Amino acid sequence: MTTSSTLLIFDVDGTLIWTKAGRRAFNRALERFFGVADAAEGIPMAGRTDLIIYRDICGRFGLDPGTFGAFKLEFVAQLAEAMNADPGHVLPGVVELLEACAREPGYVLGLGTGNVEEGARLKLAPHDLNRFFPVGGFGDEGETRDDVIAMAIRRAEAQAGFAFDRVVVIGDTPLDIACGKANRCFTVGVATGYHAQEELQGCDADLVVADFSDVGSVLVGLRAIGSRNRTS
Ligand SMILES: [Mg+2]
Repeated sequence: MTTSSTLLIFDVDGTLIWTKAGRRAFNRALERFFGVADAAEGIPMAGRTDLIIYRDICGRFGLDPGTFGAFKLEFVAQLAEAMNADPGHVLPGVVELLEACAREPGYVLGLGTGNVEEGARLKLAPHDLNRFFPVGGFGDEGETRDDVIAMAIRRAEAQAGFAFDRVVVIGDTPLDIACGKANRCFTVGVATGYHAQEELQGCDADLVVADFSDVGSVLVGLRAIGSRNRTS
């Protein structure tokens, strides 16, 4: 019997780590770049890509969204500073779960996040989590979060040299579940962000957990996903 292959695609904020540095850096960068204070106030960020958030803000202030590349440089510089000042924390069970998944036969780990890659790497570095994620899809690659997941899958498959038997998208928001489904992936919701377990269950995720602290049962749940036929 051959081992089946599984790609696990993890979101960053609210799933692996908790930090306010992203919003802080975004606001500071906007202020430096455009001379506008609190420009991102009230703009939803969770589960969305940096590029789309930036376009929303540009729309609000009548700014040219074509400036994203230059803005990104300022944002990354601000994020490095904000992470230095307050890196936030790793969410419960994350390190143990990632270590267990890395040991699991046939499992490959990747990122699927609304952060630009430089941003995601800066957020994960102080917590020593980049070592688990050789590839990913990021928030300035494509128009939508669906594109980000598609990119993560393409990169991981190019690196592996084969198509995975299962792809599982893991995140803390209904948007993570939706973009997993849009890419015909299995989905796992974790209620360590702004969304409660019941809300994620309502999105029809294949598995929903309060957090990753019970690594053993999360692993059992991950192994079981896809072993039954999907009927929906
Ligand atoms: Mg998130």
